[in-house]
Amino acid sequence: MNIHEYQGKEILRSYGVAVPNGKVAFSVEEAVEAAEQLNSNVSVVKAQIHAGGRGKAGGVKVAKTKDEVRTYADEILGKTLVTHQTGPEGKEVKRLLIEEGCDIKQEYYIGLVVDRATSSVVMMASEEGGTEIEEVAEKTPEKIFQEVIDPIVGLMPYQARRLAFNINIPNDLIKESVKFMLGLYQVFIEKDCSIAEINPLVTTGDGRVMALDAKLNFDSNALYRQKEVYEYRDLDEEDEKEIEASKYDLSYISLDGNIGCMVNGAGLAMATMDIIKYYDGEPANFLDVGGGASAEKVTEAFKIILSDTNVQGIYVNIFGGIMKCDVIADGIIAATKEAGLKIPLVVRLEGTNVERGKQMLEQSGLNITAADSMADGAEKIVSQVK
Ligand code: ADP
Ligand code: MG
Repeated sequence: MNIHEYQGKEILRSYGVAVPNGKVAFSVEEAVEAAEQLNSNVSVVKAQIHAGGRGKAGGVKVAKTKDEVRTYADEILGKTLVTHQTGPEGKEVKRLLIEEGCDIKQEYYIGLVVDRATSSVVMMASEEGGTEIEEVAEKTPEKIFQEVIDPIVGLMPYQARRLAFNINIPNDLIKESVKFMLGLYQVFIEKDCSIAEINPLVTTGDGRVMALDAKLNFDSNALYRQKEVYEYRDLDEEDEKEIEASKYDLSYISLDGNIGCMVNGAGLAMATMDIIKYYDGEPANFLDVGGGASAEKVTEAFKIILSDTNVQGIYVNIFGGIMKCDVIADGIIAATKEAGLKIPLVVRLEGTNVERGKQMLEQSGLNITAADSMADGAEKIVSQVK
């Protein structure tokens, strides 16, 4: 789960990790009021969306007067920001962070991620802050330093010091930087983060070290024990179809293609997407209805796929192990009767009660193409959509 920058900064602040003073605003009036309360010489008006790259897209503005705060707030609120992380459709700005302007001396990058290769949390740091870290990794990988963190002892002060030296933090600010890194690591572990990225971390004219940006992602599987984090969820930022799917406990991820997929089991769902791509098609979603799905769940899953206007064909690929093929057939028939079916549907069923399932589909009078194998089904749906 993702949260907004201002929420991430609230968490950091509560752990004593340095961030500028700031306030969230939902309207232009609130923005001006926030700036008055902050009472700093310079305020920064920052769009709050679940995506980075806001600066370049005009979503971060420095205001020197209250009038400028009003102008920028008015300009940014309600605007659809298109950044390299939002996709071409962009994201509408509904909240602003009004923050103290900071006298930046130098921008750095600090990130914590879960590294699969070492099965550990890794802290990454670079003196190339403020820019996209992917670009630094590609062009000047020698400027990114890493420390692999032992889960038993956690981030050790010597590791943080080594990173601070490597990224050329001035000597008199090493101690502050180490404190910052240790605090960030504590947040990462205690709040079950999957990513904590500070880009930029800055040193200031008056000798401080602080986070000017904060991107915190959380492991959804741990949210049951992170009630406070869960409170930060902003449904406006999430895909409606994904929200609907989560109500029915379906694993659904919306994608850009035009072939809707309904599959049981995450592995089979991945393989199905692969094979659609192999035949030159593009999946519109990842969907795992789970092992023991009921007819109702299948019906809901089908409705979610049909509600996606990009979908021009559906491929159902089910292995009935725990799940029975006749239950699937039941769900498909119920959903198509309810929502109507005007696009091609290819179904490949295998496993328990497969004969009964196939028979039900045949007798339903629906226009369904049966497939004999996974590859056969993929080939059929791709050619029918084209
Ligand atoms: P994004 O990564 O989405 O572009 P950031 O929060 O990193 O957004 O802001 C972009 C840039 O704006 C920063 O690299 C920094 O130079 C500047 N900036 C952000 N917040 C402040 C602030 N409080 N004071 C001064 N400059 C800021
Ligand atoms: Mg940033």
